[in-house]
Amino acid sequence: MKLKTKIHFLSTLMMLILLILSNLGIYFTFDRTQHKTEYSQLLGSAKELTVALNKMTDEEEAEIILRAYVPPNGALRVVGEEGKDILSVQSMEGFDKKFPIPKKDEQYTLVPFNGYEALSIAIPTIWPTEEVVQLEVTQVLTDLKANLKLLRVVMIGITLFAMIPIVISSMTLGRIVTQPIEKLIHAMTASRKSGTFQQIAVPEQGKDELAQMGQTFNELMIQLEQNYRKQEKFVSDASHELKTPITVIDSYARLLERRGMDKPELTEEALTAIRNETKRMKEMIEQMLDLARNNEPASYVFEETDLRILVDDAARMITSAYGRAVHVKGPDQLKLSTDGTHLKQLLIILLDNARKYSEQNIDVEVELLNQYVAVRIRDYGKGIPEKDIPFLFDRFYRVGEDRNRKTGGTGLGLAIANEISIGLGTKLDIESEEGKGTVVTIWLQKKPDSQ
Ligand code: ADP
Repeated sequence: MKLKTKIHFLSTLMMLILLILSNLGIYFTFDRTQHKTEYSQLLGSAKELTVALNKMTDEEEAEIILRAYVPPNGALRVVGEEGKDILSVQSMEGFDKKFPIPKKDEQYTLVPFNGYEALSIAIPTIWPTEEVVQLEVTQVLTDLKANLKLLRVVMIGITLFAMIPIVISSMTLGRIVTQPIEKLIHAMTASRKSGTFQQIAVPEQGKDELAQMGQTFNELMIQLEQNYRKQEKFVSDASHELKTPITVIDSYARLLERRGMDKPELTEEALTAIRNETKRMKEMIEQMLDLARNNEPASYVFEETDLRILVDDAARMITSAYGRAVHVKGPDQLKLSTDGTHLKQLLIILLDNARKYSEQNIDVEVELLNQYVAVRIRDYGKGIPEKDIPFLFDRFYRVGEDRNRKTGGTGLGLAIANEISIGLGTKLDIESEEGKGTVVTIWLQKKPDSQ
């Protein structure tokens, strides 16, 4: 069963049950109240009659009084000791065949009488002959039957009439709830079939859950599309980047094949070029793997780490590998919660860039601020043109192709640095002035109790 039909069916059924229950409640309350009213009226007139009878001394006079008090559509009977029928009068036919006998232990007795209900009561009284008799009064409830019938008709009519707006509103409700879901299903099916990322129209001001669902779906689609485009771009950039060294290797290999035997100096040149390109390719592949690994949040393990030790280690590595002086300034000890392995990798990437793109010393400044610890890696090299700064974290982005060919860069270093920074929950800032140098700042969050 479709959701729309379910909502429609269930809400209509619920409302119908509610209406029927409330109508039944009203009907039975009315029925009970009416019986009570009839009973009190009958009792009232029976009591009046007993008062009048008590004053009588003559049986004939008593009979006249009884006739005056017989209820319309009813009967009166005087029963003596041992159930002896003393007198009975009636204003309706049929009582001579079967006279309703009130039960002693009940307030009043209801018995079926000629298709109606007859309400009977019995009260004791003194008969003019001084005998204690039972006065039985019966009223046939003809009006009540008509009233109840009318009430039933009115209630059925009202229920049927009320069902019209109920059915309309439950259909509208079903449509309101299912329309956005149908739109979603439609968009998802279309996206699956066409391989695109289709969004759905959502009311901008919509605040309810259905509007939120639509907005979240659209956001999800945007994110999926962005990720898809990123992956697509990465694969195309990576294959493009790998194509250059492979082409170089291939052309040198062919050259060796053709003329390598005759010209030994060519062989050396070709082998050097092949080795260089292979090294470059290996580096690039390692960096690509790094990029994939650093993307996984699970690979980050946070524990209390001394930042100063990390910075000193990274600086020492650069100095011993490339013979470049790195000066570290700042507190001798600075403990904070971070992933030491990833943070060191980040420092090495930034220090390596500072080394590659400058000739002079490199400074690292560790500064303790209120909520943050700033680690600044400062070099005095060529700097980066302002227009390139926004794209530095893009994969394979390089400033000035020639310059980087010389340094052997891949354009992946800062992209990896950015991924690590996200994984560590830090922020990277790059400030640079062409001809003067570059400062890259890592903003680490300091825990209140760390230091
Ligand atoms: P690469 O492997 O080419 O160094 P990166 O992603 O690390 O790739 O850097 C991207 C670009 O940013 C490089 O092309 C380089 O020109 C520039 N760059 C990065 N760091 C510095 C720096 N400290 N000084 C000058 N230029 C830099």
